[in-house]
This record gives sequence, structure tokens and C-alpha cells, in this order.
Amino acid sequence: MQLIFYTTVSPEEYSCQGKDFPFPEPAFCPHCRIKVPPQKHGFFVRNVITADFSGRIFIRRYYCQYCRTTISCLPSFCLPYFQYTVDLIFTGIRLVLGSNFSLRGCLKFLKERCRHLYWDISHLQFYLRRFLARLSAIKLGLRQLLPRVQLPEEMLVKRVGAQKVLRLITTGFAHIQSFSARFYEALGYAFMAPLPNILA
Ligand SMILES: [Zn+2]
Repeated sequence: MQLIFYTTVSPEEYSCQGKDFPFPEPAFCPHCRIKVPPQKHGFFVRNVITADFSGRIFIRRYYCQYCRTTISCLPSFCLPYFQYTVDLIFTGIRLVLGSNFSLRGCLKFLKERCRHLYWDISHLQFYLRRFLARLSAIKLGLRQLLPRVQLPEEMLVKRVGAQKVLRLITTGFAHIQSFSARFYEALGYAFMAPLPNILA
């Protein structure tokens, strides 16, 4: 299983520190919750791509001897299943759904700022479709994380509901990484996770 830990360190800094990065050490296994720290269990290597960095990073793993689960600790700039960082993907979603950029306009805007961005229209469409398909799950997460939140009603026009949800995320959390990490911790899956991983 995976944990997402919040960090303000950039992907580039994280990569430079390699195995010396001060990885969090879970006090207990998040799977069986036995109050014994899981043991260090090596690393795996993962790709990460953001505006000014593209490279491979070490992901710290732990092993729980009681339930035989391996736990991987992802830094919060990573989104499970995606090589591009959560910041970059969320910026694309916000530009199109929140700021009404066209798909081409959004790509042009991002590519002028991100030298490692090789998205085409279909990439962007994939992220947008995934976000829209996850709106109900994201609202469920917002209700847990922000108990007094006023959620938009189910709307006939999904885009309008999506815009309101985007505003709640950007106003309710200091950073998309903190939303992403807290959402994962509270619900046990990523806010952009594919459907089969969502059990709720
Ligand atoms: Zn365990």
C-alpha cells in the first residue's frame, strides 16, 4: 500500500538528496494498525516530471511483519499512477475548467512554462475526464476534510459543479499537494484514482 506524505521540497531537491532524504518513518502500520513501526524495506525508483524537472526519484518502502504488507511513502508532489506532478495536472484542470482556456490554449500556456511537457490534446482530455468522473468522490473527500463546507448540488451542467469544487479546493487548502495528501489519508485512494480503486 501507499502513503502520501506532505513535503514542501521540490521534486528536483528531493531527487538531489537521493537516499539521504529525511523520509518519514511511520510509527505504526497503516494497514493492520499494530503499534509497531514497520521495518525499512529498501526503495523503488519512480519517474517524476514537473515544469522544470524530469527524472527518477527514490521512493522509501517499509514492511510490516505482522500483516506482511509493503508500504511505499510517496512525496506529496507525486500522484499515484501519474508521472506528471499533481501541481502540473491540477494546473491544467484549473486552466480549462476554472479559467475557460481552450484545450489548445491551455497546452500552449503550459508548454511555454514547462520544458518537459509533452502532452497533446488527448493527455489533457484524459485528466479532465478523470477529474469530472471523480467529482462525487472529491465532494465526499471535501466533506470529510472541511466539515462545514457548502458543496454544490448535483448539477445538470457538470462543468459548473466542477468549477465550484475547484474553488473549494483552492480556497480550502494552502496547496494542491496538501489537498491531495490529506484526501489520500482520509479516503485511502487518490483523488485522481481510476474507478476500480475507489471502494466508497
Ligand atoms: Zn501491518
